[in-house]
Amino acid sequence: MINSMRKNNINTKIRQDTRQKEGVKKRAARVEEIFSRLSSLNPQPKSELYYTNPFTLLVAVVLSAQATDAGVNKATPALFALADTPQKMLALGEEKVRKTIQTIGLYRTKAKNIIGLSRLLLERYGGKVPKTRDELMSLPGVGQKTANVVLNIVFGEPTIAVDTHIFRLSNRLPLAVGKTPESVEYGLEKIIPTRFLQHAHHWLILHGRYVCKARKPECYKCIIADLCDYKTKTPAN
Ligand code: SF4
Repeated sequence: MINSMRKNNINTKIRQDTRQKEGVKKRAARVEEIFSRLSSLNPQPKSELYYTNPFTLLVAVVLSAQATDAGVNKATPALFALADTPQKMLALGEEKVRKTIQTIGLYRTKAKNIIGLSRLLLERYGGKVPKTRDELMSLPGVGQKTANVVLNIVFGEPTIAVDTHIFRLSNRLPLAVGKTPESVEYGLEKIIPTRFLQHAHHWLILHGRYVCKARKPECYKCIIADLCDYKTKTPAN
């Protein structure tokens, strides 16, 4: 009697393990398929921010906090024509930076940060953009998201910078579910296959920006619609 109970327990455990393994395999295949499709659509995705070198990219990303890339791009060509190095930015001064970027939200704080980070880059890093997350995050106006974007674009690191688009898309599909950008970042890093990590950040941003929009996702033209569990699919009309 005891033996048959033990057998039953073992069989149940085996069935549960098998189901779990199948679930993990299925999830992995789905994630693989999502990124295969996004990568085939745009094999070498690029940032849509205007920049000319690592320093101007850093400045552009700092300016893009709570602002759109398009809005930032309206102001940065004029700013970078005047100052595309930390030395030139310091020489330009906070007031002129402020005037040049005044169409961007939070421009006063951002101008202050740009001058502050230019000064620190010269004092601590020989005027170069540093290569580690901690060093980047020691600069004024640079949080984890900004540091991750710079590490990804300038230094080719497989980082995921979770902005509003990635946060929304990741929770909708879902890929990684979380209440904070940090938890989504952690979840995405765990599930995205290594070969897709380098560009995953751009694929997700672009898909979120142009297809899986905040108010009205364009599900009818979404190439991963059949892999998405979001209930309220938007029809063509
Ligand atoms: S099907 Fe709709 S909700 Fe799902 S990822 Fe595509 S656009 Fe977003």
